[in-house]
Amino acid sequence: MAANRTGLMRIVLGSDPLLARLIGYWAATAALYLICAVLLLVQVRIGTADPELAIWLIGAGLTGITFFAGVVRANPVLKLRPSQLAVPQSLFAVACNIGAYAVTGPLRGGWLMFLLVVMVFCAFSLRPRHAMMLCAAALGMLGCTMAYLAGTDPAAYPPRVEAMHFAFAACTLIAVTLLTGEMNKLRSRLMRQKQDLVDAMATIRKLATLDELTSLANRRHMNEVLVEQERRHEAAGQPTCIALIDLDFFKSVNDRFGHAAGDAVLRSFSNAARSELRGQDVLARWGGEEFLLLLPGTQLEQARLAVQRMAERVAAAPLAELGNDLRITFSAGLAQRRPGEPFADTITRADKALYHAKSSGRNRISEG
Ligand code: GH3
Ligand code: MG
Ligand code: MG
Repeated sequence: MAANRTGLMRIVLGSDPLLARLIGYWAATAALYLICAVLLLVQVRIGTADPELAIWLIGAGLTGITFFAGVVRANPVLKLRPSQLAVPQSLFAVACNIGAYAVTGPLRGGWLMFLLVVMVFCAFSLRPRHAMMLCAAALGMLGCTMAYLAGTDPAAYPPRVEAMHFAFAACTLIAVTLLTGEMNKLRSRLMRQKQDLVDAMATIRKLATLDELTSLANRRHMNEVLVEQERRHEAAGQPTCIALIDLDFFKSVNDRFGHAAGDAVLRSFSNAARSELRGQDVLARWGGEEFLLLLPGTQLEQARLAVQRMAERVAAAPLAELGNDLRITFSAGLAQRRPGEPFADTITRADKALYHAKSSGRNRISEG
């Protein structure tokens, strides 16, 4: 049922969010027109509106909203900007409202209240400059209509009453336009702040998962990845390997060339190692000069070849900081995860294998 409703909404509103917004705006305008049409018909019924002119006006209103419905629905092709659509719709709504004022005799004052509602509604969807122009246009149209009515039928539309009506309309419309402009500024500021917050959240999320020095995944993120892998691979039953990698004699790099050169070596290692990774592999800085490599969907033998390629790439990387003639090597402990084994245990086996690689001479890969 819910899915059907969503499907229906999609057909009516389309999948384009801009189009959906335009249709939503149009639908709200159409609802206002319908309320006005009903009020006008009631006024005809109680004898305070000219029936013929009222029917003409309702017909014109309905034609207008049908026309705008077509324009809005065709907008993906017409590619009009929202303001290009909102301005003519607003002008039309104001014109209909002033038309209702002109045909409803003694109860015409009520339409001035409605004009205010139309103004607020339009001003919310218009830029402040357009809202001011609409306000000026509305007052222009209203002034001309009132002058015409007072000139042609002064008994029904006394000039003084029309002048006072105009004065009230002018004060309230201008005030509402200015207030809505301020509200719009507030809304824009809130939207900007919301976007800033979204951007900041994205940055924080990124920083929380990355190691600052190497831009590899950090230990915390790797732990999350391992939990996720444990959950997924339990079901899929795929082989997964872990490699613990530790740079050889790194302390002496720091001692001989300084800490900054050591940092550069860590970065150089990361870049070289990263270029050997496949899409699904994850390399994380596990601590200091120690790295954890996760190789999902990989048998031990393939993992050994992958780490071997990584070692060759790292050894070939030129290191300007170390005078280019010194090469970096690493030792690695490899372990394939056993079915149902927690990753913590696989890592412990990889760690033991790493210890073995170190104690048997370094620059080698041992399996655990
Ligand atoms: P082994 O071959 O046995 O691994 O010897 P090693 O010298 O690499 O190992 P050891 O654990 O003795 O030294 C690791 C050094 O790594 C010590 C520490 O100062 C250095 N280190 C850890 N983190 C950083 C870092 O972020 N930057 C730099 N420059 N050095 C670091
Ligand atoms: Mg080391
Ligand atoms: Mg170490």
